[in-house]
Amino acid sequence: MTKAELSTYRALEAPALGEPYLLTPGPLTTSKATKESMLRDWGSWDKAFNEVTMEVRKRLLAMAGVKDDSFTCVPLQGSGSYSVEAALAAAIPRDGKALVLMNGAYGQRATKTLEYLGRAFLTLDKGDYLPPQPEEVDKLLKANPDLTHVFLVHCETSSGILNPLHEISKVVQAHGKGLIIDAMSTFGAVPLTIQEIAFDVMVSSANKCIEGIPGFGFVIIRRSVLEAAKGRANSLSLDLHEQWVYMEKTGQWRFTPPTHSVVAFLKALEQHEAEGGVQGRLTRYTRNRDVLVAGMRRLGFKTLLEDQWLSPIITTFFSPEHPNFEFKRFYDELKSRNFIIYPGKLTVAESFRIGCIGQIDEYVIHQLLRAIADSLAAMRIDMSHATA
Ligand SMILES: *Cc1c(COP(=O)(O)O)cnc(C)c1O
Repeated sequence: MTKAELSTYRALEAPALGEPYLLTPGPLTTSKATKESMLRDWGSWDKAFNEVTMEVRKRLLAMAGVKDDSFTCVPLQGSGSYSVEAALAAAIPRDGKALVLMNGAYGQRATKTLEYLGRAFLTLDKGDYLPPQPEEVDKLLKANPDLTHVFLVHCETSSGILNPLHEISKVVQAHGKGLIIDAMSTFGAVPLTIQEIAFDVMVSSANKCIEGIPGFGFVIIRRSVLEAAKGRANSLSLDLHEQWVYMEKTGQWRFTPPTHSVVAFLKALEQHEAEGGVQGRLTRYTRNRDVLVAGMRRLGFKTLLEDQWLSPIITTFFSPEHPNFEFKRFYDELKSRNFIIYPGKLTVAESFRIGCIGQIDEYVIHQLLRAIADSLAAMRIDMSHATA
């Protein structure tokens, strides 16, 4: 460690004894304070809980740079995909047509969702890991004037690529189309404000970069778009407009809220602010990623993506071609050393993923790198000559 590194040393509290670090992009390792905030019960109709909900909505809007009532924030029970489904149904009229920019599992899931919803769409499929280019989007929008919306995944968590949101948002805006962003795995750690990015809808969830526990997602949506969504939903429980109207009128969630998850989320938001907000979190996650990638390369691993596309969220590594390497064994070796990693999601090659988000810092990453070296040794894999 250099002196400068030492001066920024902040050892996060380790999980309880025997509890592994989750190097997975949600659920992820949460702080002790967040976990402890759940040690009481809340009445879903009670004023005290309604105030928590209101404060959460207010803080999320502030994080997105919203200063007036041009946008609103609607939380919705369920995992992130429930909110994506509700948002797509609300934003896209039944006779609308979306351009889905696809380069992985979450773009793919959006097309499946649109099929269920009966909304027309066109895809720009870039395969497993290539970014959609603004020029390609421009060409498709020119050639297909019936398109009404563009859907983009900010960080495609299945590979870890950080897609060129800013450039693409400019193109979508120039064509006067509505931009729908799946910012599930970035919001709170990569700047995304209405001042910087012209979007209609942005979706994220509790258990990603804000470091809450699973239980709900949230949609930050242009008020005029949500107002126009009345009666558009295909599903009662995923009717975002109704959820909003009810919440505005009563302060309550329309159906049973995930009370503990909401309370834990507010606690997580307070810690997010104390860490320096989005910028503070981006700094820590970026450092995690840099230490991880450098350390893994020293061990002989290769990243799927070139450096310019690496996100500070999650990184995909190719599995070594060594005959002794087997993911299941590698996973178990690491788990026995207190680290949970993620399998890969590529169609092209064997791979695995390691997340940089959650209550982890570079010192945890150093421990992980040691655990990986020890796991390889236990598997009798010597990669010191594997890469040139
Ligand atoms: C996590 C995630 C989602 C939502 O997945 P759920 O399993 O429904 O929470 C959607 N998009 C992206 C990019 C994600 O990372």
